[in-house]
Amino acid sequence: MDLKVPVGVSNKHVHISREDLDILFGEGYELTNMKDLSQPGQYAAEERVEVVGNRSSMVMRILGPVRKNTQVEISISDSFSLGVEGILRESGNIEGTPGLTIKGPKGQVELDKGVIVAARHIHFDPDDAKKFGVTNGQKVQVKTEGPRSITFDEVICRVDPSFALDMHIDMDEANAAGIKNGDQVRVIV
Ligand SMILES: [Zn+2]
Repeated sequence: MDLKVPVGVSNKHVHISREDLDILFGEGYELTNMKDLSQPGQYAAEERVEVVGNRSSMVMRILGPVRKNTQVEISISDSFSLGVEGILRESGNIEGTPGLTIKGPKGQVELDKGVIVAARHIHFDPDDAKKFGVTNGQKVQVKTEGPRSITFDEVICRVDPSFALDMHIDMDEANAAGIKNGDQVRVIV
């Protein structure tokens, strides 16, 4: 069986809490869905914010819907440009990570934590997980093809009924491997 998954390349982005969205865009503000993402219910919003690091600032898109905690996802390259430490984490695990300032049209938020470099991972629904023979939290290898072909180690499998099959990597990883959004890569369990 050919165990391939599509790649979703994540550019730098911000997940926002209800509370912080109120501060940045005004009380009760609702995000505008610009484009659905591969994971069900997730979307790129029209709204963008200015993220201010110690060295520079960057404009980043918000991904909706709102979440429990505000989280800024960057690549290691972005961390150098911004002047913020880039700490590798699974999404949602933000204890001990750096903060920074986020500016919106109506106000600004001083984060004391929440900046992460997302650990590469694959989303599976339970049926796909069974087909691939993986369980939640398991790490696998992923092999890419082409002139910059590489093998990614330490790829975390995340299994949930709300997920659609997709491997998430950041821009640095995609560029190093010479792959782009929608390319197919092979999972080695
Ligand atoms: Zn993901």
